[in-house]
Amino acid sequence: MEQILAFCRPGFEAEAGQELVDSAMSAGLYGYFQPERDRGLVRFYLTGPEQAEALLDRVGIDTLVFVRDWLIVLDTPDLPLEDRVGAVIDALKTHRSTMPRCDRVEVRLLENNTDRDLGNFARKWVAPLSRGLRGAGLMDEPDSGASARLEIILPDFTQAIIGFSLAENRARYAGGIVRLRLPASAPSRSALKLEEAWKVFLPPERELDYIGGGKTAADLGAAPGGWTWQLVRQGMSVYAVDNGPMNADLMATGQVEHVRADGYSWRPHRGIDWMVCDIVDQPRKTAHLVVDWIGSGLCRYTVFNLKLPMKKRYEEWLICRDILDEGLKAAGIGYRLQARHLYHDREEITCFIERTG
Ligand code: SAM
Repeated sequence: MEQILAFCRPGFEAEAGQELVDSAMSAGLYGYFQPERDRGLVRFYLTGPEQAEALLDRVGIDTLVFVRDWLIVLDTPDLPLEDRVGAVIDALKTHRSTMPRCDRVEVRLLENNTDRDLGNFARKWVAPLSRGLRGAGLMDEPDSGASARLEIILPDFTQAIIGFSLAENRARYAGGIVRLRLPASAPSRSALKLEEAWKVFLPPERELDYIGGGKTAADLGAAPGGWTWQLVRQGMSVYAVDNGPMNADLMATGQVEHVRADGYSWRPHRGIDWMVCDIVDQPRKTAHLVVDWIGSGLCRYTVFNLKLPMKKRYEEWLICRDILDEGLKAAGIGYRLQARHLYHDREEITCFIERTG
């Protein structure tokens, strides 16, 4: 049976699995999932032949929220201490006629791996592994234009999950994990969330169109100012809406107006470029707020968090998505909505909407 391995935040395997079942079904494909509890992995089994590639053909990774990245599984060999490279080669030889051409191999660990020795081994293993695979004719020369990449997951020293990902339908960052460093001047760790959101949701070659050029933004639930700090770094003027205190250095930039008001009822006098919202409240309330802002032309772009409840997290996202879709359609506007359980998110997901017409 064909198998897709999907990556998600550890603890969200059931949500990612349900999302795969639903996405496959809407693409006319059927499967079931096995969560690997608290490992951030979901095995998704497709019930017909040649369906794994069909799924990756029909469902874009950008349409998924809880699934951060995925690959098609080829084999899961044991790795004997004396010849791990040989074990991978032997396993792949049996798939030579069906696997796509690959010109690179990526060795990954589980997101919550704590074994530093395994990390060091994985880094050093890539070079001899690549030599061995090329020597056996199982991998092309680097950058030879192959459409796929070999992927090897190492849960530990003794086993490997071998598969491949497709260039046109995988996460931009391996495993969907965007590792960022927090500059000392950032007022809070939350700053990383907005930075990651921009990296995930904005087309990299057009990032400046979205966030450059001295735009105006509103940050609802702004204190102490991590998101406002990101907006200011891009040269924006910011209304920081929060009853709590804002970081003094940030206020000294002169680019921030601190508005002590309720973020759900405050509105700007005229339309602005960005509205971002990091208020922890009922997700449906936030979804309605966003419909009002985007639908009535108060902002062109928005990034906002939806704090998910402890239970029925996937179902709550579907309800919020309906509120957004139905509200924006009723407002008669064109929009692009994307959502993702970001690496820097915990119990919340982050959404992006841009008005397109
Ligand atoms: N994004 C901020 C940062 O990067 O520093 C962190 C925001 S913190 C998670 C949530 C903030 O929302 C708190 O400062 C809280 O005072 C504020 N908040 C909660 N309810 C609010 C409301 N109805 N209107 C405005 N702010 C609110």
